[in-house]
Amino acid sequence: MLIHDQIPTQEIQAEQLSDKEVRLFILRLDQIHPLVSGNKFFKLKYNLIQAKKEGKNTVLTFGGAFSNHIHAVAAAAREEGFRAIGVIRGEESSSLNPTLQFAKEKGMELHFVDRSVYRKKEQEDFLNGLKARFGDFYLIPEGGTNSLAIKGTAEILDKNDTEYSHVTCSIGTGGTFIGLASSIVSGQDLLGFSSLKGSFIHDEMRTKLSKEAVLPKGMLTIIDAYHFGGYGKFKPELIHFMKSFYDKFQIPLDPVYTGKMMYGVFDLLQKDFFPKGSKVLCLHTGGLQGVKGFNQRFGEDLPSR
Ligand SMILES: *Cc1c(COP(=O)(O)O)cnc(C)c1O
Repeated sequence: MLIHDQIPTQEIQAEQLSDKEVRLFILRLDQIHPLVSGNKFFKLKYNLIQAKKEGKNTVLTFGGAFSNHIHAVAAAAREEGFRAIGVIRGEESSSLNPTLQFAKEKGMELHFVDRSVYRKKEQEDFLNGLKARFGDFYLIPEGGTNSLAIKGTAEILDKNDTEYSHVTCSIGTGGTFIGLASSIVSGQDLLGFSSLKGSFIHDEMRTKLSKEAVLPKGMLTIIDAYHFGGYGKFKPELIHFMKSFYDKFQIPLDPVYTGKMMYGVFDLLQKDFFPKGSKVLCLHTGGLQGVKGFNQRFGEDLPSR
């Protein structure tokens, strides 16, 4: 079974915070395991236990070429003794980016499919074709979100975390948000910052909450104003913010998820969103493996550790 280190919590000291009489803490999920970082650790934990229970020796999953999920599955599968197959969206290029290079080094078999084929990732006949090709496997969906993933992310917060008035996380597929929604206590507000463009995310999260029969004890708010153009997109002010955040606090962020969330948290702080006396816990969900590839691709120099 995957085992993680203790989760460090770090308080941030800044004038903006003391001016508003708000305290802000970062839950460093990026530091809990040398290779299976962040929320992905929790999302994979019970899926790998289930795969073993079912007697499967192979796991198969889907992801983009820079995916944190692919990176985590490759590392976790190796550690737990599974054969891993990654179905990757897009063409294979002559040189692998750092994410795929890592996955390959961990023994993941990379299978590239174009976008139109990739879209069939939930279709029975496509999955049967993959079984004919690779043999039987335990399927982990793209992004890793299913009921077992949510059982895992429900374990992120523990009894020491009930003292916070607000908990914040980034939203991709929402597996983390839903798990947190099931574990916040009465009086706590959960804020989810969408990394995707569009207000569809509100309905999507409502649907997932009811599908998983989650009845939150605290309040949920989804914020869709900090996507910076959409999933994987960015703007200069985001990069600037992430660099200055690192200079002030020595905490690296990733440009797809945690950078956007922290930008949003500080923007809301400036706009007096948090009442005086708030204690805010922000989840650093990891994603730092992607920074190297991001820097190579866009000629940036974001810090990654
Ligand atoms: C995958 C990921 C997320 C999004 O998690 P979901 O459960 O898909 O919403 C957030 N932050 C980081 C760093 C991630 O890698």
